Amino acid sequence: MLPLDVPTMLLMTAASSLTMAGSFAAVRSQRREGSQLWALGLLLHTATYMLYVLRGTAPDWASIVLSNTLLSGTFALALAAVCQFQGRALPWQRMLLPVLAMGALFAVFVDDYRARIMVTGVVLPLQIGMVLWALWRPQPPARGRGVLLLTLSLGLEVVLLGVRGVLAAAHAMPLDGLMRGGPLQSFTFMAVFVVVILASLGFILMTKDRADADNRYFATHDELTGVANRRALVQALDRDVAHAVRSGEPYALLMLDVDHFKSVNDGHGHRAGDQVLCHVAAILRARLRAQDLVGRYGGEEFMVLLPGTPARGAAGLAKTLREAVEQTPCEYGGRVIPVTVSIGVCGARLGSGDTWDRLIHAADQALYAAKAAGRNRVECVALAQEPPRTRAAPA
Ligand code: GH3
Ligand code: MG
Ligand code: MG
Repeated sequence: MLPLDVPTMLLMTAASSLTMAGSFAAVRSQRREGSQLWALGLLLHTATYMLYVLRGTAPDWASIVLSNTLLSGTFALALAAVCQFQGRALPWQRMLLPVLAMGALFAVFVDDYRARIMVTGVVLPLQIGMVLWALWRPQPPARGRGVLLLTLSLGLEVVLLGVRGVLAAAHAMPLDGLMRGGPLQSFTFMAVFVVVILASLGFILMTKDRADADNRYFATHDELTGVANRRALVQALDRDVAHAVRSGEPYALLMLDVDHFKSVNDGHGHRAGDQVLCHVAAILRARLRAQDLVGRYGGEEFMVLLPGTPARGAAGLAKTLREAVEQTPCEYGGRVIPVTVSIGVCGARLGSGDTWDRLIHAADQALYAAKAAGRNRVECVALAQEPPRTRAAPA
């Protein structure tokens, strides 16, 4: 058996906890997402293992009772970190009770090593169980490497502590004290060293996974209304037009603009204006098919992409949308704000020279006509023929 020096391993664990706590301080984010609580937990873990190293030198109340109470505090803070990450209130009772129990039980069993191992085999797995429960309930977290790594490493710790507790209860492990354990003791401390690193990495990855998901979402969605943003619209349009040209299927585009929106802002305030935009977006979203796409093209202008839809069908849908907006009141601050929209429609079978910007231009022309004709109406245009290409004169 490889000779492993327990005090050295305890020091290594203290060092790895302190290093990870420092790393958390270095990557601290603006958002309150639990990293500071996790870092504080790692500091308690560092203190725990420093006090373990002083076993025999420091008084028992410090090296036995205080150290293990701090260890329990580490898992209480892990629970707090996960709750804060999820934006939930800190569960003070579930955090504090196990710590108090741990302190009291260790004070009672300060001279009974076997009982102490059994206590850690029950209280700590219970605390870790609460962390995992908070992580996966009430709804499972977004899948990611971070969640899996954290679950896996905490799971390993539960198994380890549980097995030690059972072996101690069954008188099946040598109990020569903390510093002189057999292979199980060495394996335990080696595993704790690894768990500190893996669990912390898991937590950091969780924040990164979420930031990545947010970035992906905001790269394609309008923050205010939640519909596609201009970039996503243009990308989809580009793809759709290429497909419509190849397949020969009809394609339609609606340009939709809120009427007299400036006076909503002026009369009811900018917030009410924002509410009107969300209101219109929700009405559009509720009435479209799965393959259609609605997005905010800019300011108070929306665009609806209708693949496989002939001009007549698009005009009918535009009429339905216009009526729905007119008939659905928008309430804000106890007031009802009347909202109407003008819609420009362009639907066509696309040819090889047709591009998405020509479609947008045509729908824009129709929208302009709807505004000019008095607003709260639908106007349709055909896609203009591609201008004949002029051939360069021979030199
Ligand atoms: P029309 O019927 O001709 O479309 O008139 P309108 O008042 O709707 O159009 P106009 O272009 O004069 O004004 C659009 C206003 O939309 C001006 C701008 O301040 C406002 N706006 C643009 N983006 C937002 C936004 O995100 N929130 C709010 N509340 N207002 C916005
Ligand atoms: Mg407008
Ligand atoms: Mg406008």
